[in-house]
Order: sequence, then structure tokens, then C-alpha cells
Amino acid sequence: MRIFLIVAALAAGCDATQAHKAAPDLAQIARPTPPPAFQPSDLPRIDVHTHIEPGALPRAIKLLGSHHIVHIINLSGGSPGGDGLEETLAEANHVGHTTVFVNPDFREIKKGAGYGARMAAKIKVGHDLGARGVKISKGLGLGYLDAKRQLVAVDDKALDPVFEMAGKMGMPIAIHTGDPKAFWKPPTPDNERFDELSVHQSWSFFGAPVSWDDLYGQFERRVARHPKTIFIGVHFGNDPEDPVRVAQMLDRHSNLYIDTAARVPEIGRVDANHDAARLRAFFEKYQDRILFGTDVGVGNAAEDLMLGSTGATPPGPSDVTRFFESTWRWFETNDQAIPSPTPIQGRWTVDGIGLPREILEKVYSKNAMRLLGIKLD
Ligand SMILES: [Zn+2]
Repeated sequence: MRIFLIVAALAAGCDATQAHKAAPDLAQIARPTPPPAFQPSDLPRIDVHTHIEPGALPRAIKLLGSHHIVHIINLSGGSPGGDGLEETLAEANHVGHTTVFVNPDFREIKKGAGYGARMAAKIKVGHDLGARGVKISKGLGLGYLDAKRQLVAVDDKALDPVFEMAGKMGMPIAIHTGDPKAFWKPPTPDNERFDELSVHQSWSFFGAPVSWDDLYGQFERRVARHPKTIFIGVHFGNDPEDPVRVAQMLDRHSNLYIDTAARVPEIGRVDANHDAARLRAFFEKYQDRILFGTDVGVGNAAEDLMLGSTGATPPGPSDVTRFFESTWRWFETNDQAIPSPTPIQGRWTVDGIGLPREILEKVYSKNAMRLLGIKLD
């Protein structure tokens, strides 16, 4: 047998021309087949962080529905009494698949003392109309001024009734405090978020009267003051740059949850504070307190579309595809160097954390269903 093999090998090698001719075919056979195109899991997703303009809900549901999102939370419900809440709720009831959050009416602050109680009363009206949670924007702490033209702090005592009312009504408060730390640094080309800051000069807080750390302290005092109120710290607990601090917050405050909206680029990056293994361990440990969100914004005009952030020009179909595909790949695979879902949020790629299906299911939908009483049909 052995001799036969040697002879056969010699025979095969004896005709150099023939061997050369056969080479392309052999090479083709030997070439590794490319990996199959990424297929996201079939799990239903609830997006807890969207901003939908009145009138644009059908378009939003169609867009998100074509990317596995079966239910959305519209955080931009407005306030009752002429600020859009009634209209937003009516449309949500008509179109379905939507939960609406009410926004506190911060215009009350300008009207003077007692604003907290007046705002709380409107939260109650919002609840009775059908709003299921409260959303507070980063304007609190960074933009809203009192009658003396001073910034109103996130932990302003006079606002306590708003947070107490939400707790009493069983309405979680999604709260955005601060912004990326790079927004407090000079908006120069060496700033890691320069692409965004050069398009949106007003997003820079360089030289702002309040520091990032002051704001975060205000946020923590607010969460600590209302243990019976559920808080959703949006954008990965308002500190995606520092998952260790977010973990400490979650350990200290059992009433705190977080969402992932618009921060996959931040938490998925590989740097001194982040790597895929550590983020996976974070998701394993806090799997019951993390909610999936996108920060997609949809308006009535075709160009009114935000995918976590906005650039100089509106996003096109390829941006939409990349946004969702990179997001699902990040959650579901261990792929490395995945294109950023939102490249304007930093010129780096992200490494996937490959969550197991049981955890994905919680983050994608089960946690939101439990927290907000959502039933999927
Ligand atoms: Zn948002």
C-alpha cells in the first residue's frame, strides 16, 4: 500500500504542466468560504428610548418594526394642557405598539414659588390620561433657569413633589443628566467627539457653570432621595465612559435601572475603561436592570430622522442598516471591530459582547415589560 502511494504521488508530480494547469481549481476548492452574513436573533425588542413627533408614529413603527422592534416608548410625550400630550396619547392608542412618557412642564419654574407642586399635579394628569412614565431631559441641571436666572439643579428641593408623585403613581422616571465628558473639553479637532461638536456647537459645555462631576453628584442625590421611585438612568446610567461607577450606582440604589440608548459606541469601545469581557460581565451581573433603547428620533419630514445622534446631513438607508446591524452584532456576537452604529459619535469600532439568549431576552424586552406593564401581542 505504501509503495502504491509513493508511486501515485510521483505520477501526480511528474507532469509539471498538468499540475500547473490544475492549480486554479485546487486553489478555489481550498479557499475558505466567507462566514455567513450576520443574522440577528428573532427575539422581539422593546425600544425604551425613542423621540417621536406627533403625526410621525406610523412612520416610526414601520421603520423600527422592520428591525425587530415590536414596541416603543416615546419619551417625548410632552405635558398635558396644550403641550402635545393628549395628541401623542391619542395617536399611540390609535397606532398601537407604543407607550408614552409625560414630560414635566418646566415652564412652571419661571412662574415662581410652588412650581414643584404645580408640575407634580400635571404629572398626575398625565398619568390619568394614560402616560406610563416620566422623562426628564438634560435641560434639568444644564439649561432650565429659575426666576433669578440661576440653573435649577437636578436635586433642587423644590422639585421633590415631581419625583414623589411619579413614585406614587408607579411611573418610572427616565432621566438624562449630563452628557459625554468630552463635551466639557475644548471643542477642538483633538476632542474625541469633534465630529459631533463641529456640527452642533451648542452641544459643547466647555466653560459651562456646572461641571460634569457636580451634575453626576446631583443625579445620585436625586436617586437616593426617592427610594420608592424607579429611575431609569438613560444613556447607560448617564456615565457610559465609566461602567465601574455605573455598577457602584446600581449597587447603592436598588431603585435605579439603566438604558443603552445611543451609547453602544461608548460602551462597546475598547479602551482603558472598556473591553468586551468586562462589559459582558456587567450585563451578566445587572441583567435584570438594563433596558434596550436606541434614541431613534422620527419626525414628519423625510429628513427628520435621528439615529442616536445627528450629523450635518440626514441619515440615508445605508446608515439605517449599519445602525441596526452593528447594534445587534454588538449585543449578540463576539465579533471584533464592528463598525460603530453611529460613526459621528467617535471614530472607533466596537467589540461585541455575545450575550446568551436568556440575558438578551431580558435586556431586549422582559425587563421593560415588567417595569412598564407592557404586554406584547
Ligand atoms: Zn433621547
